[in-house]
Amino acid sequence: MALLISNCGTRMLLRMAIIFFAAVVPLAAQGIPPNPTPVQANPSPLTDTEALSREALVWLAQLIQINTTNPPGNEQAAAKYIAGILEREGITPEVLEVAPGRSAVVARLRSSAISNPSRALLLVAHMDVVGAERARWTVDPFGAVMKDGYMYGRGALDDKSMLAANLAAIIALKRSNARLNRDVIFLATDDEEAGGDASIRALIAKNWDKFAAGYALNEGGEVISKGSKVQYVAVQASEKVSVNVAVIAKGPSGHASLPTKDNAVVHLAAAVAKIGSYSAPVHFTTVVRRYFEGLAAISDDEVGKWMRSLEAPDRGEHAQRVISDANPQWGSMMRDSIAPTMLSAGVRANVIPGEARAMLNIRLLPGDTIDVLLGALSKLVNDPHVRFEVQPNAGLAAPTSSLETDLYAVITKVASQEFGGAPVLPYQSPWATDSSQLRLHNVQAYGLWPFPVTDEDLARMHGDDERLSVASFNKGVAVLLNIVTDFAVTK
Ligand SMILES: [Zn+2]
Repeated sequence: MALLISNCGTRMLLRMAIIFFAAVVPLAAQGIPPNPTPVQANPSPLTDTEALSREALVWLAQLIQINTTNPPGNEQAAAKYIAGILEREGITPEVLEVAPGRSAVVARLRSSAISNPSRALLLVAHMDVVGAERARWTVDPFGAVMKDGYMYGRGALDDKSMLAANLAAIIALKRSNARLNRDVIFLATDDEEAGGDASIRALIAKNWDKFAAGYALNEGGEVISKGSKVQYVAVQASEKVSVNVAVIAKGPSGHASLPTKDNAVVHLAAAVAKIGSYSAPVHFTTVVRRYFEGLAAISDDEVGKWMRSLEAPDRGEHAQRVISDANPQWGSMMRDSIAPTMLSAGVRANVIPGEARAMLNIRLLPGDTIDVLLGALSKLVNDPHVRFEVQPNAGLAAPTSSLETDLYAVITKVASQEFGGAPVLPYQSPWATDSSQLRLHNVQAYGLWPFPVTDEDLARMHGDDERLSVASFNKGVAVLLNIVTDFAVTK
């Protein structure tokens, strides 16, 4: 309309009116407190991590008490418990049914109305646990018993502590109202220990859009301490690939009173004996190279010397033997490993069976293929009665996570600060985690298990009397929250 004044003119009139109004009307009458307490635009989620850890310890105890031994898993009960906690905090969870009785939980804190999956940070932990032989434990494995400053229970290390810490992190962010620079997504998975039909592979196939992310923090790393001092922090950036292979020997069956030279059991036993003494060739990946370089600096002189010589042309081979013998984990980081795990043959003591079988659990280095290894084993066994059969559900080789991302830099910085300047090393785990499936979907996934533990306590993982000290749990909760805050909260 013709009478309209320009926008610019309207704004100027308004501003003059405000200046006038403010000049003559007392502040209090305008509804503005005379000394307003400064509103923190971006409060830190890190204000009281001790209180948060106390809450998280209760969640850890209650998660241990929900028996999610896999098989059968029954993770749905844990999923519902977690969903209830998130709901009370005003975070909307979604329980995703993966198979009957088996569910995952996903929840998201948004940074903006439109999500950018390539920036999002995923916090992953699995709800299922391996079985426990009750008779070998000194306490009830599902009792969440507190003893001598430790929480005992199946899952105390693997992976319910991480689950509780992830919950604490997302809840602290929500409570603080912090402004996020990327979405933070919480994901509790099922069927990790068996990697079966209800595992993250199925979850990704069905529901990837619900938790697609560019970055992830998961189990798989370790913080190794001796006494109260942290020796080093290992951040898992890649992992070996698990493949099961059957070794099958065949021969004529018959009466045991008339043995022949082509007895399948004898051929199988000879083959397994040869395989057992075989060492696959050594390959060093970038991650493993950097791991040994870092570890050499803090190891005792003798071990450090051999770690530095692993690739020396003159004494490399000797160094590889010394280091492999010193620690089976180190040996497994350098080469494909082969462990015979099962044997079967025969139905009667007086019948020669026509077939005998062994199972090999093979862990391939990233980049190695099973065909090449089986070629070498066939040559070694050199027996026409024996053949190899790759079993279904082999792991898939995934790309290594980059050591140049912002997230890796944040992990390195915060972990070093929090653990008294301990070196932070990239790590290639001999075991498999959900991270390989994520890496296959372009996620920069890191195994950051933030609880400082001794080698002795770590050995209880999947073993008897699994336990985590309360002090270590508290520290891990604080470290994880610190890393998530540094990476996802706008400063
Ligand atoms: Zn685990």
